[in-house]
Amino acid sequence: MTATIIDGTAVAADIREKIKGRVAELYAATGRKPGLATVLVGEDPASQAYVRMKGKNSVEVGMESFSYKLPATATQEEVEGLVRELNANPAVHGILVQLPLPKHLNEEAILGAISLEKDVDGFHPVNIGRLVMKGRKPLFIPCTPKGCMVLLERSGVPLEGANAVVLGRSNIVGMPMAALLLHANATVTTCHSRSRDLPGICRRADVLVAAVGRPKMVKGDWIKPGAVVIDVGVNRVEDPTAKSGYRLVGDVDFDEVKEVAGMITPVPGGVGPMTIAMLLQNTLDAFERTV
Ligand code: NDP
Repeated sequence: MTATIIDGTAVAADIREKIKGRVAELYAATGRKPGLATVLVGEDPASQAYVRMKGKNSVEVGMESFSYKLPATATQEEVEGLVRELNANPAVHGILVQLPLPKHLNEEAILGAISLEKDVDGFHPVNIGRLVMKGRKPLFIPCTPKGCMVLLERSGVPLEGANAVVLGRSNIVGMPMAALLLHANATVTTCHSRSRDLPGICRRADVLVAAVGRPKMVKGDWIKPGAVVIDVGVNRVEDPTAKSGYRLVGDVDFDEVKEVAGMITPVPGGVGPMTIAMLLQNTLDAFERTV
């Protein structure tokens, strides 16, 4: 059996098209556009590329993009000062502080300084708190796990009562992903670097989400036949045949796993494009609350 490929690129393009239409409609009605501000501290090349892509995508759907770059030596007060300025700027509806921040900065305080109404990454401690509580609603759900949920929904994957396993417990992917699956009434197991017998735990999963940052860690014999596999991982591996000298692979050994799974997301072209589409959706939602 070969798994059905869940095409994140196509789903994300469809969502972006809908967002573009709604942005144009709102602009015609109000003369205003949603504005997304990105804040990059330091010169990490991967972060620079992510921020560029987010800015470009927001402009493509008709939003206003504001890009702020601070040196790696920026102080806590400088970064928080910029966030407060953006909080007060009525043209800015979403604020994204690119992570990771340089080590000397207090990430929690900076994320906590973002206005709740503009927290389009969904990382403000209050939004995260509401996300993990029963019966509370965050204003925004973090983009990557939200994108995974949309892929599962659009693929018609039943979650109620399903055994879901999440590999990874980070604040930005694993932990919110587990919370969302739990809210969807799955029975959720979260694994991490201290978990024992990962293959055995994974073999019980009807839905497996891998977010560990370990190239091709999840093997074909870890998979229950017919399971749905969502690969969040983005890992650079050397590839002398590629122009750049490297290529991107997921946390899942795609060639092996696709022979056992029922559905699988590829890397690239799975979760990645969904993350940006969800950021645009969150920015549009933030704007809509102001009109
Ligand atoms: P982190 O490094 O913050 O977290 C990794 C998690 O995986 C931790 O919980 C860690 O456990 C766990 N882990 C690491 N190694 C193992 C192992 N050998 N066995 C079991 N668990 C392990 O990573 P992120 O959550 O930020 O990202 C995960 C992956 O997703 C990365 O490849 C990243 O590039 C990608 N990513 C992709 C996005 C997209 O849009 N497609 C967006 C964000 C991330 P412990 O807690 O014990 O340390």
